[in-house]
Amino acid sequence: MAKRDYYEVLGIDKNASEDEIKKAYRKLAIKYHPDRNPDSKEAEEKFKEAAEAYDVLHDPQKRQQYDQFGFNAPGAGGFGGFGETGGFSMDDIFSMFGDVFGGHGGFGGFSGFGGEGSRQRPQYRGSDLRLKVKLSLQEIATGVTKKFKVKKDVTCTHCHGSGAENGSQSETCPTCHGSGVVVKTVRTMLGMMQTQTECPNCHGEGTVIKDKCHQCHGTGVVKGEEIVEIKIPAGVAEGMVVNVPGKGNAGQRNGISGNIQVYIEEEENDTFIRDGQDIVYNLLLDFPTAALGGEVEIPTLEGTRVRIKIDAGTQPGKTLRLRGKGLPAVQGYGSGKGDLVVHISVFVPKTLSREEKNMLENLRNNDNFKGDNVTKRSIFKKFRNYFD
Ligand SMILES: [Zn+2]
Ligand SMILES: [Zn+2]
Repeated sequence: MAKRDYYEVLGIDKNASEDEIKKAYRKLAIKYHPDRNPDSKEAEEKFKEAAEAYDVLHDPQKRQQYDQFGFNAPGAGGFGGFGETGGFSMDDIFSMFGDVFGGHGGFGGFSGFGGEGSRQRPQYRGSDLRLKVKLSLQEIATGVTKKFKVKKDVTCTHCHGSGAENGSQSETCPTCHGSGVVVKTVRTMLGMMQTQTECPNCHGEGTVIKDKCHQCHGTGVVKGEEIVEIKIPAGVAEGMVVNVPGKGNAGQRNGISGNIQVYIEEEENDTFIRDGQDIVYNLLLDFPTAALGGEVEIPTLEGTRVRIKIDAGTQPGKTLRLRGKGLPAVQGYGSGKGDLVVHISVFVPKTLSREEKNMLENLRNNDNFKGDNVTKRSIFKKFRNYFD
């Protein structure tokens, strides 16, 4: 079969703009779309022919070569791969279709078409489910697998998801005659435009079931329950969402299942405060150890205790860092581990015995224990020296 000139195929001028090329192809693609022309070999040929012409002409480089050399463009095989060998599959065309119409083939609500040249009904997709899970800091530190009992749409076992009673057949939808879409002409600011919307009778399938399954009423799904195990990675934080593909509501009529989205919440911890990947521990140090130095034990996230060294003369407000004793980063969102940050304050007893009071009174009179007063007095001294 002789090949027709690409410009002739699209019915456009040699000087057509990119926009005109796109529009011309779009028109032909809708006209010869296999969904609208079931079992028409001629429409399929025209559909492929238009796609091939569009593929070459919408690419400035290919177009320039075609303008110069025609079908015998130089280079590896020229435009071979289209044309005679028919290497242009329906899948390729549908991916181009997405390019022209925006999104998945332009038929809202469904995703994808079956390939291999034969027409298949578009697939339904089940909706996503949302779950909340409250995690302890320890669970966040290690990651955890949680089990959920999930109420959701599951595939109908009576009809195995087909929606048809006892193998009953489907028939072509009388409303859209099998195309799955209805075309409406609407007036816009740019003039009259044709828009496609999903057929309200068959919801885009192009077919309707004659005898619907009595369990699921033709949807192929019923309300059910499933125990779902979900792995929560280490390092997650409040407000993060873990997406679990394919565990949401089953798609109608053996469609694609939705996802489960797990919203992370954090339990309050009595011992630690989370600060990003760091874990903060407030250490209330006794005064003698702060003054004399020594060793104290502090808890860790893993539940063990570690001894840390306190320098003599440690001041309240000082922080110590235990490197790598904090939380890991969520996979793919950073690396390494945070620290265990020890915030030191000094314990002051609220009640004192007579003996303790006496000891402290002695210390109060000691210049070395004067704190802020020492500084003030020394400044005052300086001033006095200055005036003397
Ligand atoms: Zn219909
Ligand atoms: Zn059923």
